[in-house]
Amino acid sequence: MLESLFRPKSVAVIGASTKEFSIGNRVIRNLVDFEFKGPIYPINPKADEVRGIKAYKSIMDVPDGVDVVHMVIPAKFVPQAVEDCGIKKVKNIIINSGGFSETGPEGEAIEKDFLARAKKYGIRIFGPNCQGIINSDPDIRAYCNFTFTQPDVGYISIVALSGGVAEVIHQGFSEMGIGTRIYASNGNACDVTIPEIIRYLGEDEGTRVIVTYVEGLRDPETFMTVAREVAAKKPVLAMKAGRTAEGAKAAASHTGGLAKEDLATDLIFKKAGILSFRDEGELIQAAAAFATQPIPKGNRVGVITNTGGPAVIATDVMVGDGLTLPPLSEKTAAFLKENLYPEASVNNPVDVLATGNAAHYRACMDSMMADDNYDCLYINFVTPFFVDTDSIAKEIVAVNQQRIKPIVCNLITDRRQWTETVKILQDGGVPCFSLPGVAARALSAMVRYGRILEKEAGDVKTFMDVDKAGAAAIMQKAVASRRKMLTADDVYGILDAYKIPTAGWAVVGTAEEAAEAAGDIGFPVVVKADSESVIHKSDMGGVAVNLADAAAVREAVSQMQAKFPADDLKFLVQKFTPGGTEVIMGAKAEEGLGHLIMFGVGGIYVEVLKDVVFNLAPLTSAEAEDMLSEIRLAPLLEGVRGQKGVDRAGLQEVLLRLSQLLADLPQIQELDLNPTLAFEDSACVVDARISL
Ligand code: ADP
Ligand code: MG
Repeated sequence: MLESLFRPKSVAVIGASTKEFSIGNRVIRNLVDFEFKGPIYPINPKADEVRGIKAYKSIMDVPDGVDVVHMVIPAKFVPQAVEDCGIKKVKNIIINSGGFSETGPEGEAIEKDFLARAKKYGIRIFGPNCQGIINSDPDIRAYCNFTFTQPDVGYISIVALSGGVAEVIHQGFSEMGIGTRIYASNGNACDVTIPEIIRYLGEDEGTRVIVTYVEGLRDPETFMTVAREVAAKKPVLAMKAGRTAEGAKAAASHTGGLAKEDLATDLIFKKAGILSFRDEGELIQAAAAFATQPIPKGNRVGVITNTGGPAVIATDVMVGDGLTLPPLSEKTAAFLKENLYPEASVNNPVDVLATGNAAHYRACMDSMMADDNYDCLYINFVTPFFVDTDSIAKEIVAVNQQRIKPIVCNLITDRRQWTETVKILQDGGVPCFSLPGVAARALSAMVRYGRILEKEAGDVKTFMDVDKAGAAAIMQKAVASRRKMLTADDVYGILDAYKIPTAGWAVVGTAEEAAEAAGDIGFPVVVKADSESVIHKSDMGGVAVNLADAAAVREAVSQMQAKFPADDLKFLVQKFTPGGTEVIMGAKAEEGLGHLIMFGVGGIYVEVLKDVVFNLAPLTSAEAEDMLSEIRLAPLLEGVRGQKGVDRAGLQEVLLRLSQLLADLPQIQELDLNPTLAFEDSACVVDARISL
């Protein structure tokens, strides 16, 4: 539990300084200015007081218990100071100082040293090389941090390793006039981790929205488990940066964070139900909306405006993001015709005109809140001199506080003149934005999250008809043989064990055996060279399709024997099954995460089309189904231009069986089923590859 860290009853500062421009001074000043509810104990061997507060020579001299100690002293003194804190029974230490693992092996050794000492005493370490925490809870008001933004009381909590980005976000909220609940920036995070903080914030009643910034995940599995748990309770908004090679390098050098592959992080976010952002501005704006608004139940938006163009901009953005603007119901239209100016535009968007007054706005909001055609409202509110804008603001607040459907408001005003109007909206919890597109994007983020919530996670189905032991035995033998690529025999044997449908097959050694196998399988057949040295078979002349008789099979085999003088050369004889839609399914092991599963347009143009999507194993049925719909050429699977669609259920089942196979055989490094042929009422794999 991080209770005593985030809700400290007393704070001491080891390295409290009398120098105005120092962190050891600023931390104390921040605690005082933010009106920390508990006692503050400056520790300084030379000064009697710091900022007018009695100082102690050593932490041991502090008369009472200490929940949080700040350490603002050179790295080399930290281990001993931790030891002292242990004897004093301090609960948490925020180490603001740098000079640890972020600097190299020497610093790393010091970090290990003090961490071992802390563990011995059961002290939790926050940082080192970090800013610290802030808790704006009126009962606590802990500003255990050397940064500068003084938050209002709020509902959004921020967690990030990077102090700079945490501050960017924090300051963003402040500028919008919305508060922050808890702020946590833990630098090297050698002990208290981001997942642990997220779990705490999940339990913190005052936190309604969690915003996090990551550059890489050190422990993806734990992050996912925790995020999933917490995201089920409250919105978690995240941004991952370090997406370019250059960005990742910058990240690695400034926090010691591990910039893992983007894809995996995105998939973790997705699977955990985290709303992901690529732009910090959008993240901040969306969080502002989440902080006070209910989650929309659908994507249908009603637009109320008193100005034309901004509604057009907002409409474009929202429609571009997948929202719709359904027409007013007859009842709403009739009501508004009666209650607005005759010149007003009674449509969606509703234009109440610049002269529209509070009663007009109220009529729109009430009728559209009650109108089943809408899930959420977007409001443009320009503040002309000739209307009573305070009254309009009050009506918006009144409707907002009913919390029927979410509202965002694009407020077009001069904030220095319309201070009262702005204040009414702000105090009333109306998320106000200064650009139509920005407000629109905040609303679409909420709709996007609504979709995530709607999606039932679904269970991971287990097929009971698989031969797990058989597949494991094949795998064990293959591992023992030290091959990198499994033989066709092994690969198809494993697929058979998991009842993944394949074209009828046999592996043989000679032309004669091939001809015989072909007779058993039934002509026409395909012959493929099978050797670890023949990778892209068709490019190298290792695939002969549509062989109609035994003579053709013998001929194909002898040609390949001439072409590939490899010792391990064998031949896969396979039923020729032309005419299907070629898709690819694949998998790749991701360290600490199991396997990524891929689905997309297959065949020899895979690399050209790059129309593939990924998810993390194990897949639920819903996830497998989504994968089929997420590729660009998804309509091909549905059937276009008079063609019948393919067996989607069959493909979905192959994906699910594949997912189970991967869970059972973690040794698989990469796997490719390319192509899998999809027909109207069946699917079968005709080329498969597994590498260890
Ligand atoms: P590789 O990918 O190593 O070049 P494949 O086994 O995928 O070799 O064969 C190349 C192409 O030949 C496939 O993409 C597919 O279009 C076609 N093909 C291969 N096997 C069959 C089969 N059994 N039935 C129908 N077409 C096939
Ligand atoms: Mg292939």
